[in-house]
Amino acid sequence: MSERQSKATQERHERMLLELLKLPGNEYCADCRAKNPRWASHSLGIFLCVRCAGLHRKMGTHISKVKSVTMDQWTVEQIETIRKLGGNTHVNSLVNPHPDKHPLPLTVDDEHAMEKFVRNKWEKHAFMEPSPSMHLDPRTRLQVAPKRSSSVPVMMRDKDYSTSLIQLRDMGFKDNERNLQVLRQTQGNMDSAVDILSRIPGQQRPMVAQQMTEEQKMTRLREMGHTNMANNWDALRRSGGNVEVAASILNDSKQ
Ligand SMILES: [Zn+2]
Repeated sequence: MSERQSKATQERHERMLLELLKLPGNEYCADCRAKNPRWASHSLGIFLCVRCAGLHRKMGTHISKVKSVTMDQWTVEQIETIRKLGGNTHVNSLVNPHPDKHPLPLTVDDEHAMEKFVRNKWEKHAFMEPSPSMHLDPRTRLQVAPKRSSSVPVMMRDKDYSTSLIQLRDMGFKDNERNLQVLRQTQGNMDSAVDILSRIPGQQRPMVAQQMTEEQKMTRLREMGHTNMANNWDALRRSGGNVEVAASILNDSKQ
């Protein structure tokens, strides 16, 4: 990590970053819209001006990992993460889908006002839209509330599966017999059961997940306790957009 890169490597990486900076949306700071950002958060996949990069650094690396495009050493992985996350426009459409409702402070030069805005946006995710299922069905909320660890299956007798069976049916898995079979197999672990059911060929994808937008899926994962956006995106991509499977991938990777 700390090994110095050759000048040629550094220049190649800088060229890759400058190419990304040319993409529409990246020519402005993702937070304050100042022109020609020269800093980036490689964990969030955005380009930032020097002031906003400072605010990100202040929040801590668990929220945002910032680097200078021109002065810091980059790895190919970090550059690829930015490319994969889609740049300023895409990331902003997820974390602040309605900028008209959550506009920039009128005084963007006001450090204090801007810090509050940046923290609300990235630390509290206050501008993201709640996923619709959370509001429509209180039972879904119950299902998400307790943080389950797939490594510690909860032992349950058959009659205790009734709540899980209702939840699975609500999620779009209509075959009760098979649901029960899978629940027994996973000893009542819902995450694993959903994972298995989603992989059965011909099984309909859960309706909730189908109807959710990308942004709602991200919110859902966050509500499940997965706060690292880069990991969430990666898991969603690997699961083909299935939130439940993405959640089980994230749970597995925590072990
Ligand atoms: Zn800025």
